[in-house]
Amino acid sequence: MAHAFSARTNVLLANAGRYQAQLQSGGPKKRTGAVVVTCMDARFNVYALLGLNECDAHILRNAGGVVTDDVIRSLAISQRLFETTDVMVITHAACGLRDITDEQLTSAVQADVGVRAAWPAATLCDVTAEARRGVARLRSTPVLRHTNGIRGFCFDETTGELHELC
Ligand SMILES: [Zn+2]
Repeated sequence: MAHAFSARTNVLLANAGRYQAQLQSGGPKKRTGAVVVTCMDARFNVYALLGLNECDAHILRNAGGVVTDDVIRSLAISQRLFETTDVMVITHAACGLRDITDEQLTSAVQADVGVRAAWPAATLCDVTAEARRGVARLRSTPVLRHTNGIRGFCFDETTGELHELC
């Protein structure tokens, strides 16, 4: 059926058709070893940065790379169903969430749609502090099986360096 969907999505769907044709076999080829929690920023190529290929890691992305309840849920599943042990929390220096406050974001959503969002905006004024906060939350949550391999980083787009924070 014909809807007025965005042309961009149609380009991506055509790519998906080509990808399907390239696949040699279905399903993962090997166990996933690590989990990366990071920002959804499309300019931040975490696969290139860490040398990752498909099946190498679970990538949990959201606005800011914030450790939310849903990130903890996904990590708990990852550790139990896929036996992952290592976790990298990576924020990035050029994060767009530095440029807006929680109240500004919440107010903007409310102005657009007339409803005040029920979720915390979780904007970032300090990307390194956010990575540390996320790691501390993960290390202290009771639902994770493995907490020794949780490490926090910030990627600096200016220098290309990945700084370990904790
Ligand atoms: Zn970001």
